[in-house]
Amino acid sequence: MADRIIDLRSDTVTRPTQGMRQAIANAEVGDDVLGDDPSVIRLQERIAAMMGKEAACFVPTGTMANQTAIRSQCEPGDEVIGHEDSHIIHYETGSPAALSGVMIRPARGDRGLYDADQLDELYRAPSIHAPNSKLVLIENTQNRGGGAVWPIEQIQRVTSRAKELGLRRHLDGARVWNACIASGLKPADYARHFDTVSCCFSKGLGSPCGSAVAGDKATIARVHRFRKMFGGTMRQSGVLAAAALYALDNHFERLVEDHKNAKRLAEGIADVPGLSIDAVGVETNMVFFIVDPSVGTAAEFCARLKALGVLMLPNAPRRVRAVCHLDAVGEAISVAVRKIAEAARVPVGV
Ligand SMILES: *Cc1c(COP(=O)(O)O)cnc(C)c1O
Repeated sequence: MADRIIDLRSDTVTRPTQGMRQAIANAEVGDDVLGDDPSVIRLQERIAAMMGKEAACFVPTGTMANQTAIRSQCEPGDEVIGHEDSHIIHYETGSPAALSGVMIRPARGDRGLYDADQLDELYRAPSIHAPNSKLVLIENTQNRGGGAVWPIEQIQRVTSRAKELGLRRHLDGARVWNACIASGLKPADYARHFDTVSCCFSKGLGSPCGSAVAGDKATIARVHRFRKMFGGTMRQSGVLAAAALYALDNHFERLVEDHKNAKRLAEGIADVPGLSIDAVGVETNMVFFIVDPSVGTAAEFCARLKALGVLMLPNAPRRVRAVCHLDAVGEAISVAVRKIAEAARVPVGV
């Protein structure tokens, strides 16, 4: 055990379990481009029902889920309002500009959250001179905000204001599952405040890949069209849908364990001299911590930790991110804490 690499870089590193591999092997498949892969159809119906929406579309990645949702609801020259720390701004290669021709107007606020008063400031009244404000984005949980969970009342304030202003509303719910586990709410309790919702099966749920977008029938018909245009329509993708269905049945409720492990990890880190838990705190499966200059930079610390068999990612010059998931449980967390303490001990004379 101690010799195995403990990979806490992301909850995307999970490998399919034996049970999931079995589900993949047994998947009923068809040609989804022709619309007749039974496993894909089942998954899309399941997601639509879970989100309380009319329809859903299975896509290869979370990026494509977000980008087809944006493209389906915006035209070039439109403007999208979302937090400056959004995944859509930082990690999707500028695709809102490249694929939809939209501008993004960033909101600010702690932990990746913002409120209705900011929306009022960022919204532009229709004018021949201005971009058209069209879509509002909320990311829940908020990745760069430390895995923060949006309070449902705040979602309600922002989205109801958006609706009054005539704006469409998209939830980047790559980790909406973690938000549900933390808050006790159901996916539909979040989704009802939005026109479209994306969700990922390849993060904490542990599928090899796959995401979905849910919404009304007309919008999801457009999502299907843009999925094809962006090159994301697959053939016998029922093998992937089967993994996602297995993940929903078997790996959703267990996310509570990842949240507990993140707390354990954070408690361990808090006791290590030279390290401190980032002010964002730990709400879900992510732990962000700060490396004191006496210990080195975040990158140097991560390199020392790697040599000890534990992987994490530097997230800023002094900030490290660790993410708990189903491939790193039980003893692995205690081992990780010991290795973290070892990596933080600066060699004498250096
Ligand atoms: C991971 C993630 C996505 C999607 O990323 P892909 O790597 O394209 O699957 C989208 N939004 C958030 C908040 C994410 O964390």
